[in-house]
This record gives sequence, structure tokens and C-alpha cells, in this order.
Amino acid sequence: MSHAQQNNDDETYASSDLATGLPKSAFPDQERDPRHIFAAVRDELMLDGNARQNLATFCQTWEEPEIHQLMEACIDKNMVDKDEYPQTAEIESRCVRMLADLWHAPTSDSAVGCSTTGSSEAAMLGGLAMKRRWEACRQAEGKPTDKPNLITGPVQICWHKFTRYWDIEHREIPMEQGRLLMTPEEVLSRCDENTIGVVPTLGVTFTGEYEPVRQISDALDQLQSDTGLDIPIHVDGASGGFLAPFCAPDLEWDFRLPRVRSINASGHKFGLAPLGVGWVLWREEQDLPESMVFWVNYLGGNMRDIALNFSRPGGQIVCQCYNFLRLGREGYRKVHTACYRSAEYLANEIAKIGPFEIVFSGDMARGIPAVSWKLKDGTDPGFTLFDLADRLRVRGWQVPAYTLPANCQDQAIQRILVRNGVSQDLCALLIEHMQAALAHLEAHPVQEPLTSQEASGFHH
Ligand SMILES: *Cc1c(COP(=O)(O)O)cnc(C)c1O
Repeated sequence: MSHAQQNNDDETYASSDLATGLPKSAFPDQERDPRHIFAAVRDELMLDGNARQNLATFCQTWEEPEIHQLMEACIDKNMVDKDEYPQTAEIESRCVRMLADLWHAPTSDSAVGCSTTGSSEAAMLGGLAMKRRWEACRQAEGKPTDKPNLITGPVQICWHKFTRYWDIEHREIPMEQGRLLMTPEEVLSRCDENTIGVVPTLGVTFTGEYEPVRQISDALDQLQSDTGLDIPIHVDGASGGFLAPFCAPDLEWDFRLPRVRSINASGHKFGLAPLGVGWVLWREEQDLPESMVFWVNYLGGNMRDIALNFSRPGGQIVCQCYNFLRLGREGYRKVHTACYRSAEYLANEIAKIGPFEIVFSGDMARGIPAVSWKLKDGTDPGFTLFDLADRLRVRGWQVPAYTLPANCQDQAIQRILVRNGVSQDLCALLIEHMQAALAHLEAHPVQEPLTSQEASGFHH
């Protein structure tokens, strides 16, 4: 009789499997009972905390029951195997055409694109296409290609990775007091013949605000007519790409602007899909360099393969398609509008309960459903935002505090991201707990206020 079978009738936690500790670093020798090990692994997950109370993340933490079922049905789907799973490949293509339509590509058939594991991979592909296009132009003019640069505002870490991995000079426009976004003037002052592109962010990580894509595009049009430099735009629409089309439909940030050649967005953020899907689209076929495309044969057809990964799970993409069909423009507008309402409620309450100044209140014309705030200038309440974040952890809330990037490193800020499922009732509870935390900090003044170095947390 094997060890695993012997243990089958044991009481789970008194079993020989669990009455002593499980292996932590050496590879286990023997088999164990699935029920015991399931209990142990699931228990350990309790310590991760409650994702629904994590107000730091942009990613989905609630899904409809139908999504859970589809994910289960797709556990064996591998995106790379277009021959084995041709219908999943077709579903991916449909999503690309629907996004092309949503983002106003000249025609939904003209745009090309693909799913990715998230916006980071999508940014890598969009950035690489810009680099290749720039190199091709330079080579055609007989000019050197050894000093490419990329202009961005204060960006998400994926763009730091992109420029570092591909040896590109990153001209990141620093924040200044009173200017937390890129402006046309700041962009123009950094453009030259080695600029492969400009990346405005639709929903800046640190505050949630949209950068002014239309104004940047106009300024680059002017630069082209003045100097001949034709610099493309890639929009990082990780969050905004799935918000603005529904909640700020008149905002021109997408392929309506001819200079916008590519866009990335995270399906698993406001696309409402489960973790593990992003999208990158190019305006037209000619915007995607042929050298980046691998053609694969399937069922006698020819299909583009652009992703960096080989094997990749298909469930997230199938669920993305489910969301598009299930919600449509109407449903997405409804879901996101509820989030903006919760953000507005939180901003109003937070401004009332403490010495706070709202930095961004989640105005749907200007950004994503997020609220960010700082301590009022010139006040010293005897605690820091890091102390407040620490106190809120007592009730399970993760409301991150962090300092802004250069040149505003001294400015601490706190942020709440309102996602699908951060309901009015949960917001009211959070406000109650914030008031309790503030009362506690007043009754028990902190001896040594926490600083950003001591505070843990990963917010972007
Ligand atoms: C989240 C985010 C990313 C990275 O996206 P993932 O889908 O997490 O890979 C990039 N840019 C911005 C602006 C983001 O908010």
C-alpha cells in the first residue's frame, strides 16, 4: 500500500502529512494525499490577504460566475497552437477587430494586432515596432541608427524595461510641482531626429489622469510642418483604453488622430477580463514592421504570430470576447460609470474627514476612476500618509501611499483605485475605517512617523 493511500482516512490536520511541516526548499521525496495538500496550500493562500480590499491594484478582482466557468472550460487552450485550437484563434481575431472599431481605426479590417499577457508585453511590441520603423527610415536616408530615444511622461515601469532592454535613451519628462503630466512644450523640447516616438499615457499610474494626446499630436503635426520630422505616437492606454471609449467618447486620443500609430491596453484592468490578457493594435498593416511578424500556417490559412511568448493560456482571451459580447458599449459604460460614482463619493468624503487635498478625484472626462490625495501643504498632523496606510491594514484595506517620481520625490501621495466590485457600500465602510484610523492616530500620536522607505507596498 502506498503512503498516499494509507493516509486517505486520516483526519486532515492530524495526518502524518500535516502534523509535521511540509517540505519548503528540498524537492519532496514521496507522494502525499491530495486532500491534505489541498488544505495546506489553500490555507497558505489566506495569508495573501483579501484581493477585493486591495485598492492598490488596477487588475480585476471580481468576475461573473460565467467567467469562472469559461476559464475552467479553457484550461487546456494554448494560444500558440492555432492548428489545434483554430476557434480560439478566431475569437482572438474577432477581439482585435472589435477593438479596432472601438478605437476608431480607419476600418476594422485595416488594423492589425494581437493579444498579449498584459500591457507590459504589449508595450514591448509597440515600442519595438517604433524602433524598427525609425531604423528603416534612417537606413533609407543613409543615417546612423545607434542613438534612438523615446519620449514619455512619468510612465509605468514597463517603459523603463522597454528602453533598458533595447538600449534606447529614455527621455522621461519629470514631474514638477503643479505639472504632473506631459505637456506639448515639454515633448517638443526633447524631440530630435533620433526620436523613435512619443508615448502619452491614458491614465498615469501615479495619479490616474489622462495625458493630453490630442494636444501632443497637434504639436507634433506643427513640428513636422516646421522641420520635416515625422514622430509617431504610441498611446499607453493600459487603463484608459477601456474607459475613455465608454465614459469620455468625445476625447480624441485614439486612431482618430492619424499620428497615433499604435495603442496598448490591459484586458485584465478595465477590460474586465481575468488576469493575464492585454492588447496591442497598430493603426494599419504598414505600421507593423514585417520583420516582427512570424507567419504560421493553420488549416491551410496563414496567420500572423507577433507575441513574445510561445505557449500562453487562452481562457483570458475567450473571456475577453465574452465580456465584449455580454456587455457591449452599454454594459461597459454602466460598469465603469458605477466606479466613477464610487470614486466621486470617496473624493468628497476624504476631503471632509482629514487634512487632505485631493490631487485627482476620478473625473471621467480627465482620467480613470481613481482618487489620489496628499496632506494639505503646510500641515503637519503628526502622522504621514504611510502611517495612515499602515493603520488601514488593520481592517484588511490596502490603500497605498507612495512618493511621486522625479522631480517630485518629496511629495507623498495616497491613492485608491475603484474597480468593478468596489461598491458604494464597501466605500462607505472604508470611509468609516479611515475615520477610525484618523481618530486612533490622534489618540495615539506616532513617535516616529513612517517614511516611504519603511513602508512596503507595490502600487504600480
Ligand atoms: C498597468 C499598467 C501597465 C502594465 O500593464 P500590465 O497589464 O500590468 O502588464 C502599463 N502602463 C500603465 C499606464 C499601466 O497602468
